[in-house]
Amino acid sequence: MIEKTTVQIKQAKSMLTVNQAESLILDIISPLDQTEICSLENVFNRVLAESLSSSLDFPYWDNSAMDGYAVKFEDVKGATPDRPIVLTVIEEIPAGRKPQLTLRSQQAARIFTGAMLPTGADTIVMQENTTTQGDRVSILIAPSNPQMFVRKKGEYAEAGKILLAQGTTIKEPEMAILATAQKTEVTVYRRPLVAIFSTGDELISPDKTLEPGQIIDSNQFALTSFLQGQGAIPLNLGIVADDRDRLRETMSQVINRADLVLSTGGVSVGDYDYVEELLKELGGEILIQSVAIKPGKPLTVAKFANGCIYFGIPGNPVSALVSCWRFVQPALKKLSGLAHPWRPNFIKARTKNSLKPDSKRETYLWGKVHWDNEGNAQFQVASGSHSSGNLINLAQTNCLACLPQSEQNIEIDQAILVMLIG
Ligand code: AMP
Ligand code: MG
Repeated sequence: MIEKTTVQIKQAKSMLTVNQAESLILDIISPLDQTEICSLENVFNRVLAESLSSSLDFPYWDNSAMDGYAVKFEDVKGATPDRPIVLTVIEEIPAGRKPQLTLRSQQAARIFTGAMLPTGADTIVMQENTTTQGDRVSILIAPSNPQMFVRKKGEYAEAGKILLAQGTTIKEPEMAILATAQKTEVTVYRRPLVAIFSTGDELISPDKTLEPGQIIDSNQFALTSFLQGQGAIPLNLGIVADDRDRLRETMSQVINRADLVLSTGGVSVGDYDYVEELLKELGGEILIQSVAIKPGKPLTVAKFANGCIYFGIPGNPVSALVSCWRFVQPALKKLSGLAHPWRPNFIKARTKNSLKPDSKRETYLWGKVHWDNEGNAQFQVASGSHSSGNLINLAQTNCLACLPQSEQNIEIDQAILVMLIG
């Protein structure tokens, strides 16, 4: 019996440049506007959803920048080692104690760094410029100006001033500022919920015995960590087989739940690559089918009416990570509500190796950048295979060399652009 065969011709996918793809992704992402209250202890790396001011002045009150003596400038302005000026010490003010007395002419108060200035004092003489005997202090060197070594109340910021603007990411300095302003609860944007799963019949989790032909699902771990590093909440769905119905079911569930979906695998033109057609079936608008980038060409991005953005990422482990660093990262930054647009960190570096870009695609080669003693950045390409399936030499990568498509080799010591990661 002669079987009737149907010949399926897959349409060539339209290919965008890296910049076009990035702009398109940024255009369709709107920052999350829902907020939540976060305790000070847990607010590190979150993005502020309110501008913060304080009813306090910083410093809270006039205080001493030195261990020494609080004095009246007028009393001591003429002091020299030959003609010291002697004052009576009326009290001692360690940091944390409220001064008890008002300073009068010819008087001094012993004071320590951070301690509150007594009323009547306007200047601090550092203790190195004094000698003492009993309750007398001799000022040997006159301070050069009034207010010397006094940290004035409100000098750093007056009450009511905006200390941290909406859209600021809370890092170590901001933690200190929030604490000093007594903000024990802070309003921040909620974190993006990102569903993640790996597709492929060949995949097993790392705890299973490897049978011939199988591949261990490393993407799940690389991408979950990437998401954690970006401050997103990963919703991990594990491995989904190349089974159209199961894949459809998983995709439809997560599209309804997550802000962003990252699935790896199944976006090439193979017989088991169902992601793009399922995205269309589920009502997604396909915005990106492929990008002129190596590695990572078969990137599929779709948008859904409920706002969910789906990234169908190629399965090869290096392609998957490069796609995350180059395309998912800007998307997550924009989602997170940052006040200023985020751009990848590109720097100029000299390459220590000759490099070969692809003739048709922007090429990303992984390696390490380090700075010599003069501060010049130098790029060292990772040794070994630059196959997108080789994840072994990704170890210790801190950058990607970004080479425009070209027929020509890049010579040793030539200047290139390098994108910092991590
Ligand atoms: P695909 O994009 O599905 O055609 O997969 C391309 C290649 O990447 C194949 O060799 C897969 O076995 C491999 N691969 C796919 N998914 C993963 C994964 N989650 N972890 C590691 N390798 C993968
Ligand atoms: Mg596959």
